[in-house]
Amino acid sequence: MRYDVLIIGGGPVGNYLANLLARDFKVAVVEKKGSFGGKACTGIIGAENFERLGLPEEAILNKLRGAVFYSRIQSFEIERKSPQAYLVDRKILEKSLAERAVRRGADYYMSTTFLGFKNGRAVLQRFGERFEIEAGFYVGADGVSSTVAKAIRAQTKAEFLSGYEVEVVGEFKPDFVEVWVNKDINEEFFFWVAPVNESLARVGTFGGLEALYKFLKIRMLKPNAVVEFKAGSVGFGVRKPWIRGNVALIGDAALQIKPTTAGGIVFGMICAHALRSALLEGRPEEYEKLCKNIKRQISFGLRFRKVFRGLSQDDIEKIFEVLGSEEAREVIESQADFDDHVKTTKAILRRPKLLAKLLRISPSIVRYLV
Ligand SMILES: Cc1cc2nc3c(=O)[nH]c(=O)nc-3n(C[C@H](O)[C@H](O)[C@H](O)COP(=O)(O)OP(=O)(O)OC[C@H]3O[C@@H](n4cnc5c(N)ncnc54)[C@H](O)[C@@H]3O)c2cc1C
Repeated sequence: MRYDVLIIGGGPVGNYLANLLARDFKVAVVEKKGSFGGKACTGIIGAENFERLGLPEEAILNKLRGAVFYSRIQSFEIERKSPQAYLVDRKILEKSLAERAVRRGADYYMSTTFLGFKNGRAVLQRFGERFEIEAGFYVGADGVSSTVAKAIRAQTKAEFLSGYEVEVVGEFKPDFVEVWVNKDINEEFFFWVAPVNESLARVGTFGGLEALYKFLKIRMLKPNAVVEFKAGSVGFGVRKPWIRGNVALIGDAALQIKPTTAGGIVFGMICAHALRSALLEGRPEEYEKLCKNIKRQISFGLRFRKVFRGLSQDDIEKIFEVLGSEEAREVIESQADFDDHVKTTKAILRRPKLLAKLLRISPSIVRYLV
């Protein structure tokens, strides 16, 4: 069997791409697992992009319209009238996208692992049996530890972090996510509490598992009230190239992940549109150029991450004072964009009073971010 495009990896990004391509190309997806879902992922997706990308409504578990930010000693709340983000069920998201892709003509090879390329063909293994599939174009959508990236010798100096997430029973404000920034417990990342409903939330962080258990205690959540535990990893950085010959990387395989929040679903899907355009035009080499806005967001996120890593908890307390002020909250509530952190930061820095206060904390932070 020969395909126009063989997508390796049936995660959210691979399945989304299969949808986009299936009407114009003969497409197949190979997925090493026997069923969808199961990956460590909170499943928060910006509402605007969820709608714009046409993602399946049935995957939505909860709608979030606000956030409460906590430092060690302060907190402030951002509240919007309409939902800004959705919490989704990854299994339903992935399966619905796969079903749609099949209806549009894509072939799926489940429980099938990509091993490498041989003479321009993909070598695959299913239940101990090896076989090959030939395609005109191959896409590695096989996640952060991408085998396809290794096969095309893509290079990276990214920062790889382990992420830990639990589902825990407790009491939560159902439409508000909590973001806790406390470097005394975790130097590496913030903690999030994302409610599934008023009595269940996904709580997680990147860095160390011990930090997550310390946080549960501080947040007064019982370790014995944990009903699910998951671990995974993310990579913050650049993996190059995103395309070599007739093989492209997409989603986490290309490290299309926001280094600010570790969200990767939307960025990967936006790049799927870029890849579709490049393939339809018969100019796959244009793919990276068409992702320039995502590259700009990642590059900003990497600068943001560098700044975050250099901050002490005292600096964070000072920044919280500024961001918790009425003026900053008004800017965030009216102009913050869930997926465009360049726009959000610019909106804050455009206010002379806020800019002056941040410059007083550290001129280099502002210079570095701008
Ligand atoms: C703790 C944690 C929380 C997160 N929270 C969020 C969040 O709230 N929002 C958000 O947007 N992002 C979040 N992310 C990131 C998000 O999970 C990823 O960005 C997203 O899963 C990327 O999708 P993908 O399809 O590119 O890769 P993946 O979801 O990793 O899918 C890759 C697929 O490829 C398959 N595969 C791998 N190797 C092979 C092979 N050799 N052969 C065949 N198949 C293969 C895998 O089985 C998998 O199904 C989180 C990540 C972690 C670790």
